[in-house]
Amino acid sequence: MEQSKKRSWAEPFKIKVVELLKMTTPEERQKALLEAGYNTFLLRSDDVYIDLLTDSGTNAMSDYQWAGMMLGDEAYAGSKNFYNLEHNVQKYYGYKYLVPTHQGRGAEHIISKILIKPGHYIPGNMYFTTTRLHQELAGGTFVDVIIDEAHDPESTHPFKGNVDLQKYEDLIKKVGPKNIPYITVALTVNMAGGQPVSVENLKQVHEMSKKHGIRVVLDATRAIENAYFVKTREKGYENKSIADILHELCSYSNACTMSGKKDLLVNIGGFLALNESEVFEEARNMVVVYEGLHTYGGLAGRDMEAMSRGIEEAVQEAHIRARIGQVEYVGERLTELGIPIVHPTGGHAIFLNAKKFLPHLKQIEFPAQTLAAELYLESGIRSMERGIVSAGRDKQTGDHYFPKLELVRLTFPRRVYTQAHCDVTTEAVESVFNRKDKIKGLKMVYEPKYLRFFQARFDKLS
Ligand SMILES: *Cc1c(COP(=O)(O)O)cnc(C)c1O
Repeated sequence: MEQSKKRSWAEPFKIKVVELLKMTTPEERQKALLEAGYNTFLLRSDDVYIDLLTDSGTNAMSDYQWAGMMLGDEAYAGSKNFYNLEHNVQKYYGYKYLVPTHQGRGAEHIISKILIKPGHYIPGNMYFTTTRLHQELAGGTFVDVIIDEAHDPESTHPFKGNVDLQKYEDLIKKVGPKNIPYITVALTVNMAGGQPVSVENLKQVHEMSKKHGIRVVLDATRAIENAYFVKTREKGYENKSIADILHELCSYSNACTMSGKKDLLVNIGGFLALNESEVFEEARNMVVVYEGLHTYGGLAGRDMEAMSRGIEEAVQEAHIRARIGQVEYVGERLTELGIPIVHPTGGHAIFLNAKKFLPHLKQIEFPAQTLAAELYLESGIRSMERGIVSAGRDKQTGDHYFPKLELVRLTFPRRVYTQAHCDVTTEAVESVFNRKDKIKGLKMVYEPKYLRFFQARFDKLS
């Protein structure tokens, strides 16, 4: 018998402990949605069936990691779990020095405070909320130097996270290399939908930076997912291991900040890793002020052990293939159904294009917010708005920003949901799609002053 062309694959784990999900009725969901003011951030997790709000800290740990939790050495100083973590960061990421932090933003805070002086410019491949904020709080100005394709939902560029070398060079010429302490390169780019950076591009960024005496600081939060895209999309890397690619990516940088809550399969944790001894000395002093002693950085010994073991599991080929494979699977199903999504799909999320999904709604009727609410109502699935509500208002004029992209993000926690949950998700999106013409928009009835998307409330337009 001829073998079928496409071979199925399955999650590379079996399930030892389960957490029961609550199934709700449409009436219960309608009530919960009203109480939440049509904002999925204001839903109680208890009322959610499949939670695709974020992949941050929502990972399922393995038995190996849980066993490590029992081996937590809770000594105030010199915990053995710190040394295990240090060993694995050196081995897999390749940096010399490690400063643990409670999560990614703790590392961003420290590196920004050490390297940025008022008046400095920090280029980066698209902003991330906490990264940019810490740079600004230190007196710096963030400058976006990502390629234009990153802002175009129709572009199928394989490395939409790449730095535009011309934009970078123009900035160096304009403000002078002395005013640029470092460039941040995020692997992958969260705000562009988990889009990767190629090794070739990072190498060029490294060379240009070195020429001008500018450091390269990676946001390595999803660098392992980035390595998978390099392996599958970049010539010459097909036969390299994820671990080798990760090592090579980091070799083109001076330091990295890390949120372990993403790639590293834990619920809390992060670190700053670097190669320069003087900067390390300063970071080691500063972490004591803001996070905790330099051998725990705001984490329990058991948390460091779980993260250290998470590194070993995260670089395994079967894991990363299934992790990103799950996102690709949902992307393919939705595309087959003719549902508008952003292509190519990224590492951690699918983005529904709400402008195309609900073309009869004006942007001021909050199409993405509406779609996220309707998806919850349909199925109990929780997603997140990334559009006009998230974009906020112009500080000068007080008007809404009208972003080009009006998207709903379906973000996949690692090792939490099965392919069957993915099927239920695509079917729910399809059901909403089939009744899209009847869907009415929303009006905002409460607007908080800062980061309004978290707490804004809405009403249905009649
Ligand atoms: C989540 C995230 C951070 C911040 O990390 P926290 O652990 O949430 O503090 C920084 N950069 C990127 C790309 C992230 O996704």
